[in-house]
Amino acid sequence: MRLSELKTGQTAVIVRVMGHGGFRKRIVEMGFIKGKSVEVLLNAPLHDPVKYKVMDYEVSLRRAEAELVEVVSEEEAKEWESLHPNQKGIPAEEHEDVMHRLAKVKEHELNVVFVGNPNSGKTSLFNIASGAHERVGNYSGVTVDAKVGHFDFESYHFNLVDLPGTYSLSAYTPEELYVRKYIIEQHPDIIINVIDASNLERNLYLTTQLIDMDVPIIIALNMYDELRESGNVLDIQQLGILLGAPIVPTVGKTGEGVHELFHQIIEIAEGKQKTARHIHVNHGVLLEEKIERIETFIRKNPEPHHNYSARFLSIKLLENDRQVEGIVKKLDNAKEILDERELCQKEILDEIQEDSESAITDAKYGFVQGAMKETFKKVQRYKRLMTKRIDAVVTHQIWGYPIFLALMYFMFFCTFNIGQYPMDWIDAAVGWLGEMVGAWMTDGALKDLIIDGIISGVGGVIVFLPNIMILYAFISWMEDSGYMARAAFIMDKIMHRMGLHGKSFIPMIMGFGCNIPAIMATRTIEDRKSRLITMLIIPLISCSARLPVYIIIISAFFPHHAALTLFCMYLIGIVFSVFMAKVFSRFVIKGESSPFVMELPPYRMPSMKSVSRHTWEKGKQYLKKMGTTILVASIAVWALSYFPHHEELSEDMQMEASYIGQIGKFIEPVIRSCGLQWKEGVALIAGIGAKEIVASTMSVLYHGNIATSGMTTLSAFCFMIFVLLYFPCIPTCIGIKHESGKWKWACFTALYTTLSAWIISTIVYQIGILCG
Ligand code: GDP
Ligand code: MG
Repeated sequence: MRLSELKTGQTAVIVRVMGHGGFRKRIVEMGFIKGKSVEVLLNAPLHDPVKYKVMDYEVSLRRAEAELVEVVSEEEAKEWESLHPNQKGIPAEEHEDVMHRLAKVKEHELNVVFVGNPNSGKTSLFNIASGAHERVGNYSGVTVDAKVGHFDFESYHFNLVDLPGTYSLSAYTPEELYVRKYIIEQHPDIIINVIDASNLERNLYLTTQLIDMDVPIIIALNMYDELRESGNVLDIQQLGILLGAPIVPTVGKTGEGVHELFHQIIEIAEGKQKTARHIHVNHGVLLEEKIERIETFIRKNPEPHHNYSARFLSIKLLENDRQVEGIVKKLDNAKEILDERELCQKEILDEIQEDSESAITDAKYGFVQGAMKETFKKVQRYKRLMTKRIDAVVTHQIWGYPIFLALMYFMFFCTFNIGQYPMDWIDAAVGWLGEMVGAWMTDGALKDLIIDGIISGVGGVIVFLPNIMILYAFISWMEDSGYMARAAFIMDKIMHRMGLHGKSFIPMIMGFGCNIPAIMATRTIEDRKSRLITMLIIPLISCSARLPVYIIIISAFFPHHAALTLFCMYLIGIVFSVFMAKVFSRFVIKGESSPFVMELPPYRMPSMKSVSRHTWEKGKQYLKKMGTTILVASIAVWALSYFPHHEELSEDMQMEASYIGQIGKFIEPVIRSCGLQWKEGVALIAGIGAKEIVASTMSVLYHGNIATSGMTTLSAFCFMIFVLLYFPCIPTCIGIKHESGKWKWACFTALYTTLSAWIISTIVYQIGILCG
């Protein structure tokens, strides 16, 4: 609990002091040291400050300051003791009371966050340490919220948080604000600043901002393998000393250096680390004088800024930071401070003809360059040269597109053709299981349920597990290698014409896997208009759940052009989404979109570990869905087709007479124009929950043999189009509501997609009929 929560007369043991460095130092000097007892002498509800007794001295703290001191109270200790009778872990010392023991246990619990540029390898390190399986990808914007994990190491328990990547901590983008807010409000014990060793300058810029905040940091010099390979030399020790933060080289792909990193964190926590110290990033004489001037005005307040260092507030004021302005406006001498700021800004402008904001940025880069000059020796740029050569081909103005298409085609070719073998095996196994059960059970409703409902339904979808895993392996590989970022880059031009950013293409690509994370990934698009449009068109991107439906249909109706047909379906999705984007940006969502820089990370050989991990994760998710959603849906579809039951009817007539037959017949008139019959209608309705259910329903309704459906090639094709475009699954709709903040947009998406599905399949069908 926090010190401020203690009541008069209570005692507690101090666990840690949070807040920025300067504040911490002052408090510690007053005697608030971890492991010491503290007693509350007077804490009246409306009385500020509160009086305490530490180390036999009386000191008073403001309530807000006391909030930043974590303590263990007697009650907490008693409760803990009853919950953990045999307190293992850290060995107890003689005569130690429970309060002190718990305080020690808590001291051994550290909250650690990963902060760094996009693509610096934060998630990779996080995964290695926590054993989690979060998504990594070689482009920015893959991690959009804080992910939490745990790690036990050397008698310490670490709570790890993976934050979204940011280039800076100015309050411009949602991620920047999010990360800054997180650091300030959650008081992590230490921040792991992950920097990309192959791009030090840009990465260290963020480091300088963290230094301004005066929060405890350690630097993980990630991608150290690349630095080593490049032959460039970095004096790591010296750089660490210059920055006042220990630096540990790491390789996120293999986990090299991760133990050392956490070892150093423990050293810092125990106060044994020598390099960790607070430094000031020197902004040059002119700026430093202004920073200090504003700072003195801020300091006139009695600790207005327990959470913020005064220097940080001052620098941010010079940068015209809105959020910090808001904080300062609450101070008593707000006007005085802001006037001083105005004056300083004017003076800077007069002196160097530059506004203070860019002057500070320049100064920070200058600082970084200075540090680099002292510690970094460039030998060659082998890696970048490779990247340059590959890029000359794959992002070529003309060749870029056919290469992109060829790669996509190859991906679908493998998905279908290689996937065919394991698919046949699983299919045979499912068939065998059905026969076994059939021979073994006596006739009746239960037998029908198991064979026609469960085995047909779940089995009909489970056979696609290999295909989905292959598709995922490809997507993962392309993401990790950096090719997807290029794909986005070459699409940038086209996307701009559609009123979107190239950046929108990344969530769209993620949509091939699953639409839901793709919709979340739109968070990285700053521009509101582009973001909303992207969200609305993502459901048109063919996610992997639609794959089983395509494969069922294609195997039955297009066996000779399988890969091509599959490729076509995906292409239709992309083309139509791009078309809709144009329509939306023209007619539905008004506003200008602002230009944005696309970033091209260097190519990296994807690690087998990361690719296979993703593929397996996806496979696991799919299997889980089989055991839950699809199982329930299959049983429901079976039940609806079994009841009301008439023993005397033939199987087909029974189905027509059942509830499901009635539903299907009811909507059949609507979809007849697309060449579809009532059974397809039923499958479409069932698929609203999850699109795999379309496939499982078809399997149940056609007893696993779709060729008997009486569909023509044309109507089968129209059916695929319908499945591709219609109603996004319910979780996707909820995702849209969540991200856009309005049900309106979720409903709109559901409506327009279904309507377009109907219109387009009707057009295709009618034209097809006319042409014979
Ligand atoms: P994040 O955006 O900071 O979370 O970065 P990710 O963890 O998603 O990693 C970005 C890319 O860099 C992925 O393709 C990783 O496989 C790759 N990567 C991560 N760490 C290393 C490393 O130490 N060396 C190399 N060569 N690649 C790495
Ligand atoms: Mg990440």
